[in-house]
Amino acid sequence: MICIGPEDRVFVLTGAGVSAESGIPTFRGVGGLWRNYRIQEVASPDAWARDPALVWEFYSMRRRVAAAARPNPAHAALADLEKKIGDRLFMCTQNVDNLHEQAGSRQVAHMHGELFVSRCDRCPRQPFADTSTYEPPAVVPQCECGGRIRPHICWFGEVPFDLDRIFAALVRCTVFTAIGTSGGVEPAASFVGQVCGRARTYYVGPESPANHLVFDECFQGEAGSVLPMLFTVE
Ligand code: NAD
Repeated sequence: MICIGPEDRVFVLTGAGVSAESGIPTFRGVGGLWRNYRIQEVASPDAWARDPALVWEFYSMRRRVAAAARPNPAHAALADLEKKIGDRLFMCTQNVDNLHEQAGSRQVAHMHGELFVSRCDRCPRQPFADTSTYEPPAVVPQCECGGRIRPHICWFGEVPFDLDRIFAALVRCTVFTAIGTSGGVEPAASFVGQVCGRARTYYVGPESPANHLVFDECFQGEAGSVLPMLFTVE
């Protein structure tokens, strides 16, 4: 049980594991592969430059899987925590699905981007909502400027979104909880190291993450079972 006092500020970091019980596989769960490609081979600027149609095939598949998924009790518990403590909660997710929002979370920093948003790869036009799938024989969508429309995702080798806001929230937090993340993907894996010794630090998931030694306490179990009873708010 994590007790949240009236002065506490809570930083929650979620990873692919929080959506696993909703039917969205983790990268580890699929062995890091899509068809015979390593995920890095279809989720990188190099892949986009080499074969944008293949990249859109991969993200179209991910859009279809995510569109069919519904939030699970872990997403609901985090939305409930926001209702109770408002902006004393900072939610940061590595997930690109929208299950936190579907469960009712209002403020979510999507550091790796969002699956249902696209943007131009050339002009500064604002990213826009896009639920379409682009698979053969569909062609790669084009912007009015002549650039190509790409998924609004932070690919391997790109800089995550919202880092200023995220680091500001890390500095302020007194409770840090990571859920369903393997602790191997940077910079998220280092967040706990930024706050340990100053904030209380917790991990939730069925396996120990790679960085488990940095946490004060690990709650072993699936997020959908652990989260609904994890927080008590004073
Ligand atoms: P990961 O695939 O490396 O690790 C998943 C972690 O989830 C593992 O530690 C595993 O033990 C844990 N897990 C599995 N089932 C769980 C459950 N029921 N409850 C709690 N934890 C569970 O994922 P990662 O650490 O998030 O990082 C890899 C990258 O994968 C991220 O960049 C993320 O953007 C991307 N990703 C996102 C989604 C999504 O948006 N839903 C899905 C797959 C991958």
